[in-house]
Amino acid sequence: MPHSSPLIATLVAGLGLAFVLGAVAHRIRVSPLAGYLLAGVAIGPLTPGYVADQSMANELAEIGIILLMFGVGLHFSLNDLLQVRSIAVPGALGQMVVATVLGTGLGEAVGWSIGASFLFGLALSVASTVVLLRAMQDRRLLETERGHIAVGWLVVEDLAMVLALVLAPPIARLLNASFEDGASGAPIAFAPFASAIGYTLLKIAAFVALMLLVGQRAIPSMLHWVAHTGSRELFRLAVLATALCVAYGAAMLFGVSFALGAFFAGMVLSESKLSQRAAQETLPLRDAFAVLFFVSVGMLFNPRVLVEHPFEVLATVLLITVGQAGTAFIIVRLFRYPTSIALTIAVSVAQIGEFSFILASLGVELGLLPTAARDLILAGAIISILLNPVLFAALDRLEPWLARREAATDARAGQTPAAPDPIPPPTTLAGHAVIVGYGRVGSVVGERLRRANQPIFVIEDRRDVVDRLHSEQVEAITGNGADPAILAVANIAGAQRVYVAIPETFEAGQIVQQARAANPSIEILARASSDAAIEHLSRLGADLVVMGEREVANSMLRGVNAPEPPHPRSVGTDALATATPP
Ligand code: AMP
Repeated sequence: MPHSSPLIATLVAGLGLAFVLGAVAHRIRVSPLAGYLLAGVAIGPLTPGYVADQSMANELAEIGIILLMFGVGLHFSLNDLLQVRSIAVPGALGQMVVATVLGTGLGEAVGWSIGASFLFGLALSVASTVVLLRAMQDRRLLETERGHIAVGWLVVEDLAMVLALVLAPPIARLLNASFEDGASGAPIAFAPFASAIGYTLLKIAAFVALMLLVGQRAIPSMLHWVAHTGSRELFRLAVLATALCVAYGAAMLFGVSFALGAFFAGMVLSESKLSQRAAQETLPLRDAFAVLFFVSVGMLFNPRVLVEHPFEVLATVLLITVGQAGTAFIIVRLFRYPTSIALTIAVSVAQIGEFSFILASLGVELGLLPTAARDLILAGAIISILLNPVLFAALDRLEPWLARREAATDARAGQTPAAPDPIPPPTTLAGHAVIVGYGRVGSVVGERLRRANQPIFVIEDRRDVVDRLHSEQVEAITGNGADPAILAVANIAGAQRVYVAIPETFEAGQIVQQARAANPSIEILARASSDAAIEHLSRLGADLVVMGEREVANSMLRGVNAPEPPHPRSVGTDALATATPP
């Protein structure tokens, strides 16, 4: 039966089993990723029982990668990318070089040829897009500075990998050849080599230019047109078709990876107002297909390698986790970012995934890589993917301690040049308003207060926003408002009011709680997105909690020019209410 419909059988088996095992994993408080991977192992060819179609599963997983990168592109503007280039480019390349060298050393130690060892090292050097994005999304880090750095890092790695896939086979052959027959043949081989690099770079440049020159106009105006038809279904279809067509076209015409093509498709859309809606439309599909990615990884896994080559597996895992993370950490620190950001990036790249498999399969196909190396790469991938959530959880635990430590070192050293954002001494403002989050809501509140000449202090996660405020002579600090060290700088004890204008309820709750503890008489106004959030925030000490959706309704009922409410706490209500789009 499965022979007649391998696609359906693979989808059903993959998603069905992933759901069951993912739910079990969730139940026993393990990351659901473990469940998805195990589901893959169970339906893979190396375990008894039903065997799903491997190549089909890989293609389905590829769709997941396309949708994921499209979503990332939607949240990412060219500006964001350029802003992090000074760290992302040297960081990603440096880390890849170190990992490749270490991996080559390991391969040599195992006794493979130099070419095979090099391919092995290269495969271990590139982190998985899916794993990294999942981790960032789960922690709502994508919109933060460290999220931007991580995504920029990923884009650079992706670009490097596109080159690597083209160049790895000739390099590996070159290495093997020059070691076998002495260095004599090497210079001749460099000519096709250089032209391959040139040609690949040219194709990437042509694709990027086409996207920025034509895509940036054509795609948004097409979507605008579709949006005006008023058909939700057509709009969804347009978004999905754009993502898939651009990704596919990029791969077929320009030799760019699917992931990179989709990323650019999303990015050209990101400037348009429709992007938020477009992102929403792709969410459910994206999540479903991302699950298939993990299933397909599991399917490739050969559990025997754990028993037959335990030490090699251990060395590979150590190289991926400790080696990669260590290198990334050192590079980010060298660029004078705070330890907490360096650790986030380090943990983000301490895993490998899809590109490593592609490279490994390519190597085996070309006869350059022994199958044992591929099994090791897969084992390393699975174990590092499983370890990743554990590392992130450890980092979450470490975060408050780190923040305190960073604050302490900075205070001791005064203006330490080591961190670009040393935590400054508490503000001298008093009777001021503290605004946490300066996005759509906080900025409206802030502008209104500034116009009324009221002193404000802003806490915002995004450095660019804070830089802009500084240039406008507004006191502001980059950081997470839920962090006690950051809150301390805002002099909550001397403030009159605090506006908690961030969307995340849990973090907002922590801020409300700490503000209340620091100043029992301070007026706390908070933003919520549900009835449960209102209750949560009120219980923790907020005086007024405004639910955006309800204010939208109120504004609609009142008309756009809402009368000023006479309530004593009306500053907050009014400002927050007008923040919602009419
Ligand atoms: P918006 O939803 O447009 O009002 O944007 C919310 C803003 O709050 C964004 O600019 C975020 O960077 C910022 N933000 C979110 N969480 C925090 C946090 N915990 N601390 C400081 N700023 C935050």
